[in-house]
Amino acid sequence: TVVTRFAPSPTGFLHIGGARTALFNWLFAKSLGGTMLLRIEDTDRARSTEAAIAAILDGLTWLGLDWDGEPVFQFARAARHREAVEQMLADGRAYRCYATAQELEEMRSTAQAEGRPPRYDGRWRDRPASEAPADRQPAIRLKAPTEGETVVDDLVQGRVVIPNKDLDDLVLLRSDGTPTYMLAVVVDDHDMGVTHVIRGVDHLTNAARQTQIYAALGWPVPKMAHIPLIHGPDGAKLSKRHGALGAEAYREMGFLPEALRNYLARLGWSHGDDEIFSTAQAIEWFDIGDVGRSAARFDMAKLSNLNGHYMRATPDNELMAAFKASLPYLPGGPEAAARLDATGRWSAFEGALPGLKERAKTLVELLDGARFLTDARPLAVEPAAEALLTPDARALLASLHGRLTALEPWSAAGAEEIVRTLAEEVGVKLGALAQPLRAALTGRKTSPGIFDVLVALGKEESLARIADQAS
Ligand code: GLU
Repeated sequence: TVVTRFAPSPTGFLHIGGARTALFNWLFAKSLGGTMLLRIEDTDRARSTEAAIAAILDGLTWLGLDWDGEPVFQFARAARHREAVEQMLADGRAYRCYATAQELEEMRSTAQAEGRPPRYDGRWRDRPASEAPADRQPAIRLKAPTEGETVVDDLVQGRVVIPNKDLDDLVLLRSDGTPTYMLAVVVDDHDMGVTHVIRGVDHLTNAARQTQIYAALGWPVPKMAHIPLIHGPDGAKLSKRHGALGAEAYREMGFLPEALRNYLARLGWSHGDDEIFSTAQAIEWFDIGDVGRSAARFDMAKLSNLNGHYMRATPDNELMAAFKASLPYLPGGPEAAARLDATGRWSAFEGALPGLKERAKTLVELLDGARFLTDARPLAVEPAAEALLTPDARALLASLHGRLTALEPWSAAGAEEIVRTLAEEVGVKLGALAQPLRAALTGRKTSPGIFDVLVALGKEESLARIADQAS
């Protein structure tokens, strides 16, 4: 049975490339009835933080990418990593290297001067133990094959062949006894029973080195799939401006997790021309063989459009629930929630939702469209709306205020009757009154139907807002 893993380094948030890698591992495992494990690669002690671990777990959870069992923490397994090195030493597949930092530096600078990649020259590979300097702790290196080639049969990249002469004897244990990343990944993947390693193509050369470690340990190599990187819409490396952000940033921008999942699934993978599909369909259709080799392009505008589609397609009660769940993370969301609580306008919000969602691509835009319900007086009036509030319009609002004060009970039909009558009496078109009224009530030029707005706000608040702008 299939076992995949997602193995983030907790040196930062769950960025969009990592989220896509996790998604592909998850889809692959689900599609074959397997499991996805989570391994936190926290061996870089200086750069790994608890906050990053929390952000990664939180990001995965928000995206609905659940993992099986407890997360494995790589640093805690150092003793086991050393044990594997002992085995390689005993089998003659690794050796102690006493080269000094200065010697290594010389090898590096010589290589640089000759314009070739740095390479350890194997000077301790065959030296007898009797020559070991007593005053120095050795590093342990892999006794890598010097002839032939190392082959990675990659499910995405195809057959990748690397001449062994290009791969030097890599360090497995540093002289301070700490395991290297390359070693830790192999031992952990083996011990966790990982059958498929799916990760970014930037790890492809590591795959060749790891293949040599597997061979030295006598362990089978898991199947590998190195997926293309994500670039920006211009084809260049993904920049912050183009979306190289953490998952939490997407939550704060008001994207729905199912929309982001759908979008990420299509970054590098496709199922015919299908652009919009449910997670269940993605699981059914996902095939690692359909992942292409060329870099995927991340396009925020496309993500927004897709999200808008999801918002319109989501039933109102579900969208309302998603909105409430997201509100604490949206800019100004907590304040808006407090205002809706305090004013009792949640039901007005719910009533406005069908109209608002037609005009919003994200939950942030939805919240923005509902500002007339969440903002406190005096309302900030947009310049375009301010322009409607001419001296004449303000005088009209004053008359309207007087008439609406008398309206009892407060109703959309009653208010409409009053507005129409007043417009007729003073001989202006309905819009000449309704538009300034909209500006006064919402601070905007566009909003849900103005009579519905009057009802949503209630009599007292409506009259107060009109009074704020009347003269
Ligand atoms: N920890 C590595 C990273 O975050 C992933 C290693 C792997 O998947 O093998 O890039």
